Amino acid sequence: MFIGHFGVGFGAKAAAPRVSLGTLLLAAQFVDLLWPIFLLLGIESVRIDPGNTAFTPLDFVSYPLTHSLLTGVGWGVLLGCAYALHRRWLRGAVVVAAAVVSHWVLDWVSHRPDLPLIPGGNKVGLGLWSSVPATVAVESLIFAAGIALYLRATRARDSVGRWALWSLVALLVIAYVGNIVGPPPPSSRAVGWVTLSMWLFVPWGYWIDRHRQPVQR
Ligand SMILES: [Zn+2]
Repeated sequence: MFIGHFGVGFGAKAAAPRVSLGTLLLAAQFVDLLWPIFLLLGIESVRIDPGNTAFTPLDFVSYPLTHSLLTGVGWGVLLGCAYALHRRWLRGAVVVAAAVVSHWVLDWVSHRPDLPLIPGGNKVGLGLWSSVPATVAVESLIFAAGIALYLRATRARDSVGRWALWSLVALLVIAYVGNIVGPPPPSSRAVGWVTLSMWLFVPWGYWIDRHRQPVQR
């Protein structure tokens, strides 16, 4: 799953308006932001295997530290605690932790059974990715719902608050479509480097957030 995770990040703003969008995107994508680092360090591995599922040519051979349920919860607790210590807001911390854990849940819906419950343990996955139309439908729905919640929860302070947001949304959609219609990546290292570029979306989220304000309800 790709833009569905971003949908969760955007939508979480409604549950914790004082948490920056940058933090929420970081949380919802956290394990996929760690993953390329672990890939490039050789700690986790992926294989290019066109047709592995209908949706992706990636065979997630081993990613026990970023994508097991146990470590997913662990990363959530870690990021939630970091937020709580830094901002001293429990609700915000809980939302941050939940956004991190949501990643595993959405991946569990999407992936074929390649997600371990604990490192080295049984692997699970509901396999939404066996259908491209179903994947696109579910993911687009989550993404659109997240954007809608975010738009309800915030309003632009200035034109940057509008354009920074909509350019990010456009870029995510373009990247998503490119992912679906484009050729498979040339190598697993290329996957690592391309995925690493997703870190860019975190400062982008902070930038958007500084130009928008929570709507008082
Ligand atoms: Zn993932």
